[in-house]
Amino acid sequence: MNKSKKNTQGKTRMSVYLSIVVPMYNEQDSVEKLLSGLLEVGKQFDFPYEIIFVDDGSEDKTWDSIERLKKKNPELRAIKLRRNYGQTSAMVAGFEHASGEIIVTMDGDLQNDPSDIPTLLQKIREGYDVASGWRINRRDDRVRVLPSRVANSIISWTTGVRLHDYGCSLKAYRAECIKSVEAYGEMHRFFPALARMTGARVTEVPVKHHPREYGVSKYGLDRILKVLSDIFAVNLIIRFCSNPLKGFVLCAIPFILLSLFFGSLGVLALIFQWTPGKALFFMISSALTGMAGVHLVALGVLGELVVGTSDLRHTRLPAITKRTIFVNEEEDKSQRERAKRSISRRVIAPSSSRRSGIVSQGRSRRTK
Ligand code: UDP
Ligand code: MG
Repeated sequence: MNKSKKNTQGKTRMSVYLSIVVPMYNEQDSVEKLLSGLLEVGKQFDFPYEIIFVDDGSEDKTWDSIERLKKKNPELRAIKLRRNYGQTSAMVAGFEHASGEIIVTMDGDLQNDPSDIPTLLQKIREGYDVASGWRINRRDDRVRVLPSRVANSIISWTTGVRLHDYGCSLKAYRAECIKSVEAYGEMHRFFPALARMTGARVTEVPVKHHPREYGVSKYGLDRILKVLSDIFAVNLIIRFCSNPLKGFVLCAIPFILLSLFFGSLGVLALIFQWTPGKALFFMISSALTGMAGVHLVALGVLGELVVGTSDLRHTRLPAITKRTIFVNEEEDKSQRERAKRSISRRVIAPSSSRRSGIVSQGRSRRTK
């Protein structure tokens, strides 16, 4: 935890242990209060940490406030996205710039409480890779809470990762776990389920929740549809990402059975000379359903080719899934060093930030 590194000027600085990533979209009135809450909690930490505010293309004075606060607070780093990309992309941009071994995410609207961070960190120290907040006493209106409960049950049931509150942004991750997740769209709420694919151990921690003090929620009821389509997409990824042919063959089986059924009826109609129209009808139905089955299998084969040649990060598992026990301690050390280097290479060469045109402030002034 207390490791040190030499920077380009040859000065020694402590490695960051914790990165707190906060996406913000039009949260000008919350920025300062949130930072002071985080700095207050930071006083308890006996390790170096950084706070990364990601301005997700705000149209208000959020970035001005961040820039002003950045001058006075060395712990604060900031990233500005050129336009509003959404909460998931803002978080991913934060992950790519985070240098801590542990990453904590939270909302920037003061609904999450920074005082819960030590409890989450404690769970990670106990050996979990993901500690997910559970807003037991949720302070949002019922119209929001009810669909969210239904979504939590569906996600838990379909992904097998049983959590009461997928929607809570306050979560702690071992960095290597979350950096190996390829997220897009609105997938931030599925991070625990996706991280589980890489072998992560997930737990849930009760946390506080406050009503929104300033500004407005960035989501309306259309979120229900988005979450439902994401549930479908995430389940596809979890179940079939490494073996798409299996999924397509499963879908093709009913069509092939139907085709055989209609085909047999067609043959019977010919043998026993049922009305001529019937035989034709059965033969055409058999051909159509058979073609649907064959197309699905062909799509599965294409899917296999795509997966085989694509950059699916889940196929490159992070070091947590590959712990090895060595008799020789030196060998063990060099293995761990190699794993760390491969992770940092992935952080230095991010893909989505290059695509999204990030402007960053703070230590890693990479993209302009
Ligand atoms: N947010 C963001 N980009 C967006 C939408 C939201 O960075 O496009 C941030 C927002 O500023 C807040 C967090 O994500 O810090 C959660 O958003 P919000 O509070 O609106 O969600 P809710 O609490 O209503 O679920
Ligand atoms: Mg909120």
